[in-house]
Amino acid sequence: MNDSRFERQLPLFGEAGQRKLRAARVTVIGAGGTGSLVIPELALLGVGWLTIVEHDDIEQSNRNRHFCARHYDPVPGTHKADIARRMVLEYDPTIQVAVVPSSLLTRQGFEAVKSADYVFGCVDLEGVRLVLTELCAAYAKPYIDVSSGVEPGNPPLYGGRVCSAIGGNGCLVCLGELDVLEASRDLEAPEEQCNREAIYGVDKSLLRRGGPSVVSINGVVASLAVTEFMKLCTGLDRPARLIKYDGRTSRVSVSRDEPSSNCYYCTGVWGAGSTDDVERFLRPSVS
Ligand SMILES: [Zn+2]
Repeated sequence: MNDSRFERQLPLFGEAGQRKLRAARVTVIGAGGTGSLVIPELALLGVGWLTIVEHDDIEQSNRNRHFCARHYDPVPGTHKADIARRMVLEYDPTIQVAVVPSSLLTRQGFEAVKSADYVFGCVDLEGVRLVLTELCAAYAKPYIDVSSGVEPGNPPLYGGRVCSAIGGNGCLVCLGELDVLEASRDLEAPEEQCNREAIYGVDKSLLRRGGPSVVSINGVVASLAVTEFMKLCTGLDRPARLIKYDGRTSRVSVSRDEPSSNCYYCTGVWGAGSTDDVERFLRPSVS
């Protein structure tokens, strides 16, 4: 590739690495707080093919952290994926950028994952993370999940983590990073949710969603995630399974925890393709 844009990064991973980045097909699920940072970084790295799966428009309250939103973008009326695509093309109009303006839990959302070489999860809901874990395992896709959070309190907690599920060697579930109960609630049909809330009340942890979010914290975890992707894609190094960022103590640490050896997703589902019926998430639930 005769492109002097990349001359400052070629000494790290070489022309072969740069060519791998250019050839990579990367799907990003979610173009919100973390996704709006991951997507431009992938473009600047030199990724040649990007698919953005996002169903939401920006709101005024997103403007503190949506990296691709401009002050003149109207609210309502600006789709998060469209402004992420705009930013990518401003960097490099030769990048192939596809927008899937719907949720992951659609036929188009699933196809965007199946056709990718690498998948980023930049989502809020545990339910979407659980589906992504199974879908990426079934189709043997490297899945890098990005999460950040702020918990006001005394002391306040803020930070995030990056989980790289690669090759059936650890995932969000077997590394203990996914709240399976919350995920199953996210995936309930609306009437099931109403019935449960009528009986048990609304779970307070779910009410906290849409809580505090700060661009610099999102930026740390987004950059950690893109760096792990860069290592994997170029062959520079092996990504860490789980990286944790504690904003309060200013520490980034790599988890030494081993994944459980009998993980359903890493062993039972990995590479099973369509014989694992992950498409059941696309069917209306029968109750
Ligand atoms: Zn696992």
